[in-house]
Amino acid sequence: MLVSQNPVFIPGPTNMPEHIRKACDMATIDHRSPIFGKILQPAREGVKKIIKSNNAEIFIFSGTGTAGWETAITNSLSAGDAVIITRNGMFSHRWIDMCQRHGIIVHVIEAIWGDPISATKIGDLLEADNDNKIKAVLATHNETATGVKSDIGAIRGAMDSAKHDALLLVDGVSSVASFDFRFDEWRVDILVAGSQKGFMMPPGLAIVGFSEKAMQANESATLPRTYFDIRDMHKSYASNMYPYTPPVGLMNGLHVACNTLLEEGLDNVFARHHRIAEGVRTAVKAWGLPICANSPDCYSNTITAIRTPEGFDSTQIINHAAQKYQVAFGIGLGDVAGKVFRIGHLGMLTDVLALSGIATAEMVMVDLGLDVTLGSGVAAAQDYYRNNSGLL
Ligand SMILES: *Cc1c(COP(=O)(O)O)cnc(C)c1O
Repeated sequence: MLVSQNPVFIPGPTNMPEHIRKACDMATIDHRSPIFGKILQPAREGVKKIIKSNNAEIFIFSGTGTAGWETAITNSLSAGDAVIITRNGMFSHRWIDMCQRHGIIVHVIEAIWGDPISATKIGDLLEADNDNKIKAVLATHNETATGVKSDIGAIRGAMDSAKHDALLLVDGVSSVASFDFRFDEWRVDILVAGSQKGFMMPPGLAIVGFSEKAMQANESATLPRTYFDIRDMHKSYASNMYPYTPPVGLMNGLHVACNTLLEEGLDNVFARHHRIAEGVRTAVKAWGLPICANSPDCYSNTITAIRTPEGFDSTQIINHAAQKYQVAFGIGLGDVAGKVFRIGHLGMLTDVLALSGIATAEMVMVDLGLDVTLGSGVAAAQDYYRNNSGLL
């Protein structure tokens, strides 16, 4: 066991507040007793508030984000259906792969890794789809591999302009509970989230929201599903039950996590993530290194991917930080493997914790001979935080 422990700077699982961790640690209860409903229903209600929805049906499965994807796809689509997905990083790539393995025809819009999703390109494909073959648009709100945020409202706008009735499925695993997510306003049909990122919990819950339209699509979807069949969940929820053995402690943690976020106030949570992210980006600029995200309007407030100089293997940074300083950063994935390292800055972070990550990254880069001046990023971030933090 480690006596002392540093915060992690990976983009999930994230650091956990002590009281949320404790809320997950529960004595055994009988999940068929009325106590269970008192844990399940507030957790579902909490999630609805976090995603700004009055009408979403929230389903909570044991699993991670990937299980949430499978829930979304199998409960709304049939083999042979066509969908649109933009590939702009590893997570959108994996969602494409999952659809293809389910026999779904994917119209892939290839994008530069570092660019956001183009709503215009989606609109063009929908306009051209005269015989309504396309059943859904799948979008990754925050591409965790590149630190790129896409505009879900704009994608909804493009779908409306094309007068197309495809479903809108959104991966919000690394955005929900960290930056603004508007399920109702954007008329999202299915949202996928997970417990281990913005909710500051251990991994283990796939959190999925369905619109009324998605609930209807579920009736005619023919992809096989058993464990992830929302019809069984829906039926059981109506009587405060669960179709299988639920991870009660994690659900209790989710209820407490939602309350914690709502007590801080969503606007404050979003502002905190913005401020911490800006401090990190200010530091990166002072290092003279480029950010993977190609324009400021798509900068992610939960994760920054930083490009390292040509010929340098960025994985060294992750290994060296772990070995020498016991600090975890995110590796580059897929197309940007070895080319970027990532600083996760979501969940239970403060300006002061962020500074420790920036300072560590700096020591590591200097150790490895990169042309970075010790203290340069820290000083820039200190300056930013000094001028933008605290209660006024
Ligand atoms: C973390 C993450 C996932 C889910 O991955 P799991 O390991 O299955 O939880 C999915 N999408 C995005 C954008 C993510 O950041």
